[in-house]
This record gives sequence, C-alpha cells and structure tokens, in this order.
Amino acid sequence: MYLISNDSLCYATLNHRNLMPHVVTDKCNGCKFTDCVEVCPVACFYEMDNQVVIHPEDCIDCMACVDVCPVHAIYAEADLPPEFTKDIEFNATQAHQIKDSGTEAITVKKDPLPGANERKKALGY
Ligand code: SF4
Ligand code: SF4
Repeated sequence: MYLISNDSLCYATLNHRNLMPHVVTDKCNGCKFTDCVEVCPVACFYEMDNQVVIHPEDCIDCMACVDVCPVHAIYAEADLPPEFTKDIEFNATQAHQIKDSGTEAITVKKDPLPGANERKKALGY
C-alpha cells in the first residue's frame, strides 16, 4: 500500500503499534502551564509561541500528562470532543515541523504565559 502524506504514514505506523496518540487541544492556547512536559516519559511535547503540541509518532499512550494539565487540554485521540478534531492534524503538522527543524522537545516546566490564570478561569477551571 502506498501512503500519500507524512500524516498518513504517521497514523499507519501508530495503528501498527496499536497506540493511540494524545492530542493537545487549543484549550492550551494562551496557558502553556507546562506541567505536562515534565511527566512525559518519552519527551514528545514541542513548544510553540502560545501552546505545546504532542508528536503523534513519539507518544506512547501512557496518559501521564492528562491529569496534570490544569485546564484539561489533553485528550486521547479516541476521547477527543468533536470541536477539537482539527487539533489532531494541527498537533501532527506542528510537532513534525518543529522536530524536523532540529528543535529539541520541551521537557522542563517554565512560567506560564501572562494571562494564563485569566484564561484558565475563562475555560471554567
Ligand atoms: S499543562 Fe496543559 S495548558 Fe499547560 S502546556 Fe501542557 S497542555 Fe498546555
Ligand atoms: S500520553 Fe504519555 S507519552 Fe503521550 S504525550 Fe502524554 S505523557 Fe507523553
């Protein structure tokens, strides 16, 4: 079977491993508390200006990050609410771009973005 894109290759590989990648939704946008990055055993979080994303091929489906996110921004792909479906491709595309550029994964917690606590309240947490 021929695959037509890197993302297709990604999901084919994941299916072969029977793993379900986790996805950072845009609830993270503007927060970036980064509690998640320190618990990930395989360093698969990559940092953008306003949020982090998960590399779908590197995620091992351990769920360690899910409960530590103060705004519950991370879901297993199978549990993703429909309004966040777009974030599956967003995580894959952005994480691939950042990793492929040679940038290391983020593994150490840093200060949240200014306004993160207001954003957290606005999200209902
Ligand atoms: S803990 Fe949650 S809000 Fe903070 S960076 Fe991770 S996913 Fe984003
Ligand atoms: S589910 Fe596990 S491996 Fe995947 S991003 Fe979260 S902590 Fe990392």
